[in-house]
Amino acid sequence: MSTAREKIGDGGGTPHPEPRAEDDPDAILRDGRRLDHAEGASKPLRPPSDPRPEPQPRGARVHGDRPIDQAEAAARFIAAPEHEKMHDERLWDLRQKRDREMHGIPEWEELRSLASAIKEHTLSHLDEYLDQFEANARSNGIYVHWARDGAEHNQIVHAILRDHGATSLIKSKSMLTEECGFRPYMASVGMEVIETDLGERIQQLDNEDPSHVVVPAVHKLRADVARVFSRTIGTDPGDSDVHYLAEAQREATRPLILTADAGMTGCNFAVAETGTFVVCTNEGNADLSANVPKLHIASIGIEKIIPRLEHLAVFIRLLSRSALGSPITQYTSHFRRPRRGGEMHVVLVDNGRSERLGMEEFWTSLKCIRCGACMNTCPVYRRSGGLSYGATYSGPIGLIIDPTFNARKYSNLPFASTLNGSCSNVCPVKINIHEQIYAWRRVLVERHEAPLAKKAAMKAAGALLSRPAAYRAAIAAANIALAHLPRFVIYNGLNAWGKHREVPHPPKQTFHSWHQANRGAKQ
Ligand code: SF4
Repeated sequence: MSTAREKIGDGGGTPHPEPRAEDDPDAILRDGRRLDHAEGASKPLRPPSDPRPEPQPRGARVHGDRPIDQAEAAARFIAAPEHEKMHDERLWDLRQKRDREMHGIPEWEELRSLASAIKEHTLSHLDEYLDQFEANARSNGIYVHWARDGAEHNQIVHAILRDHGATSLIKSKSMLTEECGFRPYMASVGMEVIETDLGERIQQLDNEDPSHVVVPAVHKLRADVARVFSRTIGTDPGDSDVHYLAEAQREATRPLILTADAGMTGCNFAVAETGTFVVCTNEGNADLSANVPKLHIASIGIEKIIPRLEHLAVFIRLLSRSALGSPITQYTSHFRRPRRGGEMHVVLVDNGRSERLGMEEFWTSLKCIRCGACMNTCPVYRRSGGLSYGATYSGPIGLIIDPTFNARKYSNLPFASTLNGSCSNVCPVKINIHEQIYAWRRVLVERHEAPLAKKAAMKAAGALLSRPAAYRAAIAAANIALAHLPRFVIYNGLNAWGKHREVPHPPKQTFHSWHQANRGAKQ
């Protein structure tokens, strides 16, 4: 859902433009004027004398159902300063663009409230709207299938492809298919799947999951992409020019697209009253996937339903502005019926959504339209990279959704947040994200799924905070220790907090003793 520049992380080098010299003979001209924006280059963070490329930090280590250690993966990302800086600035740039777009729409808050109300109404009547969508889609000539979970989704799609003798499939980006483990399943049955979204294709070629719901390869530097392409499609490993890389990828993929047996898309919105669905992209790749082969399969999460076509306008105005800070996606494609001689299938997927709908504190997370704004604004996400979460969904919305799939495996995630509330402030459908993250912490403790170290620390803190005398004695002891102990005693391997921070100097007097001295007698 973003342009080639956006997909290639620092492609375009927006944070550090370095225009060519005035008299550069290679400057790009149009109508006699220089196009400086076409010449931007990233300024290296390390001195040019250091020729070693910074290795790309990889994501969280996943071992079955064992809890993902997000902090460990985040520490590795932070230890790669070029990646961390680019990622932080790139996403903050999107956040600022989003703010500019927001300020251009006086009724922005009304739109958010409306979007939230439409979603809450729909989710409260989901069974009715799903039935309505199914009936109308069928009358439009679309085959409608229902999948209880990811495995069923994969089997249904496989059966459709098998019935048509299809052996190759082109697909546009879909977080739902990531959730279902679709590509690994297809590989296991010998079916070739080609991602048509540039960022998603980069990730596929690098054997990585998307790190962001909108910009899947945003964590990669251009040099990382150059390395992936040189390894997989034979480009020059030393050439990280964005246009060269994008063109090379287009040349490599286009023949596969033109000869594919079937095409697959996700869906941004499915309209109950018309039985139609809408896919939003910036590359037009969904249109290729849907229109080049005669067979089109769309995977749709059941929460994507909206009641009426007029509601679409509310979401379309919010989606791209919130995601990339652009007024609208380049392509907003409506699909109503199969084209002449073709066939269209829709797979409506539950995969835990019904269960989440019944969770009193978390059901409104189903309002999410996957814009990624909460990720772009989150200080933890921006500095740790999406792959550090080791889950399909990362960033603030991931902290809420992932534990609904597997509370034990994702038990560390709700603690990867400062709870600053910025995510809730930018969410176009007004999900109370930070409150739900906080609620998950409590639920995980109640279910005994919280990490042991955190539980022990919280228990000790609880015991201390509930005994004022013990608390005051501990503070006094800590103040003396901080003032007099040698540095290595305080800053050692056991003090994780102090790895990147200085412990503040203790005040000469605590607030309590000041209050006793100055106000205590008057009470
Ligand atoms: S939770 Fe809100 S801000 Fe985050 S991706 Fe979903 S809709 Fe966007």
